[in-house]
Amino acid sequence: LFTRILVYLFTRLLVYSFTKRTSMHSIAIFPGSFDPFTVGHADIVARGLGMFERIVIGVGVNEHKRPLQTADSRVESIARLYAGEPRVKVVAYSDLTIDLARREGADFILRGLRSVKDFEYERDIAVMNKALSGVETVLLFTDPQYSAVSSSVVRELLAFGKDVSEFLPH
Ligand code: ADP
Repeated sequence: LFTRILVYLFTRLLVYSFTKRTSMHSIAIFPGSFDPFTVGHADIVARGLGMFERIVIGVGVNEHKRPLQTADSRVESIARLYAGEPRVKVVAYSDLTIDLARREGADFILRGLRSVKDFEYERDIAVMNKALSGVETVLLFTDPQYSAVSSSVVRELLAFGKDVSEFLPH
């Protein structure tokens, strides 16, 4: 009986360490313009941390858009926000999100969904990314309290000198 108990405990330990190890290795890219990074973005990261071991926030460098902040200063301010969270890394990138995923060893892309418009857009990209690289896209519905928050609205308000602090994470 003693041997059987030992074998049972050993098997449980093996199963436990295996499941723990596999789940510990899930990395997701959270790509976006983040111009600027809002409370809506922060909510997606916080919820993503409950699903993935690590999140790499990929700040897209787009030559065609005229950003409020340069990519470097966006990276810097987001990194400052997560300075106490070793599971979050922030990088700038100017190639495809699936290439960033490959570099970072990520099997997932995390995105937020606010509206039907977001859905249509995300579906096409997700299908394409999956076909090209096998990377799965995980979509999280926006928390209703943030559904109207967007970087473009924040930029618009800033242009008219309004206080936007309630939309920015601290
Ligand atoms: P992009 O230019 O790639 O759409 P954004 O910086 O606008 O980048 O957004 C990055 C991601 O964050 C997108 O998946 C977007 O849907 C999501 N997102 C933006 N605002 C919110 C919000 N208020 N709630 C939930 N998700 C959001």
